[in-house]
Amino acid sequence: MRVLVVEDEPEMAGLLRRALVEEGYAVDVAHTGDGGYQLAVTVSYDVIVLDVLLPGASGFEVCARLRRTGVWSPVLMLTARDGVTDRVRGLDGGADDYLTKPFSLVELLARIRALARRGGVARPTVLCAGDLSLDPATRVVRRGQVEIDLTAKEFALLEEFLRHPDTVLTREILLHRCWDFTAETHSNVVDVHIRSLRDKIDRPFQVVSLETVRGAGYRLRRDGGRPTPRPVGNAGVIRA
Ligand code: CA
Repeated sequence: MRVLVVEDEPEMAGLLRRALVEEGYAVDVAHTGDGGYQLAVTVSYDVIVLDVLLPGASGFEVCARLRRTGVWSPVLMLTARDGVTDRVRGLDGGADDYLTKPFSLVELLARIRALARRGGVARPTVLCAGDLSLDPATRVVRRGQVEIDLTAKEFALLEEFLRHPDTVLTREILLHRCWDFTAETHSNVVDVHIRSLRDKIDRPFQVVSLETVRGAGYRLRRDGGRPTPRPVGNAGVIRA
């Protein structure tokens, strides 16, 4: 297992390195955010231990940049401040876990082992299908550059579809995932919300992304939608 430590304080960096080497890990150390970024895009690390406060690019910036580049090595953030905002910002920026300084080495090692088990599969913070995007953290939905205002329920439905693109979701599945037991639900409620969702994400852009699969349910196209078919109407019909 190979671990990257990004930490500017020499004492802390040395301590972490020794502890990890003792566990039998191969360990690389970077002392700046940019240095850490360069290593992380070059070497495939099982885990990256990333300090938040770094000279130059912060740990937040490095993590976000790595995710944008398509590097999905699990990231454990080290936050110095005991601030909730820092931890939230780190996790929403694509980090997988955090530890607040000071921490015990035993806990650090346990968290590293847990993260290594997850592996480096893609875990995008923003969900996309073609030019349709949804950010669960900021709750911003866009078609291209256009921001779309959704109700809480429409948002929940779209998030569910974006997590399972090109997959038929039945009304029962959607009810189960987006409505709780307290809600008075009947399958018609799904259709109503799907209709209003289409009116916002598809119709104004003349595309069809949310398809009805007759007798089964609904499906969101992974490509973000095809152009709305031209109305056939009676144009080609010759009347007597
Ligand atoms: Ca630091």
